Amino acid sequence: MTQIPTQLETRTATWPDDVTARYANLTGATVDVRTEKTLVRAVCTGCPAAEQTYPLRAPGKNTGYEPRPALTSAQTWAQGHAERCRALPRPA
Ligand SMILES: [Zn+2]
Repeated sequence: MTQIPTQLETRTATWPDDVTARYANLTGATVDVRTEKTLVRAVCTGCPAAEQTYPLRAPGKNTGYEPRPALTSAQTWAQGHAERCRALPRPA
């Protein structure tokens, strides 16, 4: 039988290198904010269909690398999803 990680195990597990922020949902799954090459992705590890992406540059602008707005937007979405989500962590 596969063990579902406890909330403590989820919080203390080593984060993948591209995870810049992690929020615990109501059951111990995490909502991870990942910084990728051209975007910031927020995805729930309990219900992977719950995912939002934020481009690092606004469309039509050529202002260079601007990570902060995308990261802030992704963190806001991740926090809101984590506060409501009851999906269990996926078995390892
Ligand atoms: Zn979820």
